[in-house]
Amino acid sequence: MVLKSLEIQGFKSFPDKTKIQFGQGLTAVVGPNGSGKSNISDAVRWVMGEQSTKNLRGSKMEDVIFTGTKARRSQGFAEVSLVIDNSGKTLEIDSDEVVITRKYYRSGESEYMINRTNVRLKDINELFMDTGLGRDGYAMVGQGRIAEIVQSKSDERREIFEEAAGISKYRYRKNEAERK
Ligand code: ATP
Ligand code: MG
Repeated sequence: MVLKSLEIQGFKSFPDKTKIQFGQGLTAVVGPNGSGKSNISDAVRWVMGEQSTKNLRGSKMEDVIFTGTKARRSQGFAEVSLVIDNSGKTLEIDSDEVVITRKYYRSGESEYMINRTNVRLKDINELFMDTGLGRDGYAMVGQGRIAEIVQSKSDERREIFEEAAGISKYRYRKNEAERK
C-alpha cells in the first residue's frame, strides 16, 4: 500500500489548499525549523482518525485549524484528504484508489469521508484495521514511540504484534459481536 498524495486546507500552518504528491520510493521533507514539516505528518495522522490532541501536538482539537496571522484571517475549518494506492486491494474496498477525508469545523462538527462519501469515524478505523496504517497502526512512528514500545507492558506490546499479524480485526469483530 502506497500513499499517493495528500491535500491539506486550513490545517495548522497550511491556510491555502496545498497538494503534496508523493513520488516513487522514499520521500523526505526538508525545511527550516517551524516551516511545517511535522504539520504534514500530523495531517497524515489526523486524516487517519487520530483523536489524541497530544499526539497532534495540541491541547484541543480546534488547534488543528489555521489560527491566522497578521496578514491572513483564521479559517473556519480544517480539511485533509489522503489518496492511497489500493491496487493491491489491501483495503477492503473495490477500487484501485482510496481517498479518505476528514473535515473539522470550529463549531466542533466533524466529517469523515471514504471516496467522497460520508462515513463514520468507526468506518475509517475499521478500514485501516490490521493494515499497519490508521490511528493505532505501527506505520507511523512518532518521536519517543520506540522508547514507549520498549517500556510498555507486555499486553500493550502484544497489541502491536496482533496488528502486524492481522488478527486485531478478528478480536475487534468478536468484541463487537459480544456487545450486541
Ligand atoms: P522543526 O524543524 O522545528 O521540527 P517543523 O518544520 O516540523 O519544525 P512544524 O512543527 O511542522 O515545524 O510547524 C510549526 C509551525 O506551525 C509554527 O510556526 C506554528 O505556529 C505553526 N502552526 C501550528 N499550528 C498552527 C495553527 N493552527 N495555525 C497556524 N499556524 C500553526
Ligand atoms: Mg518538526
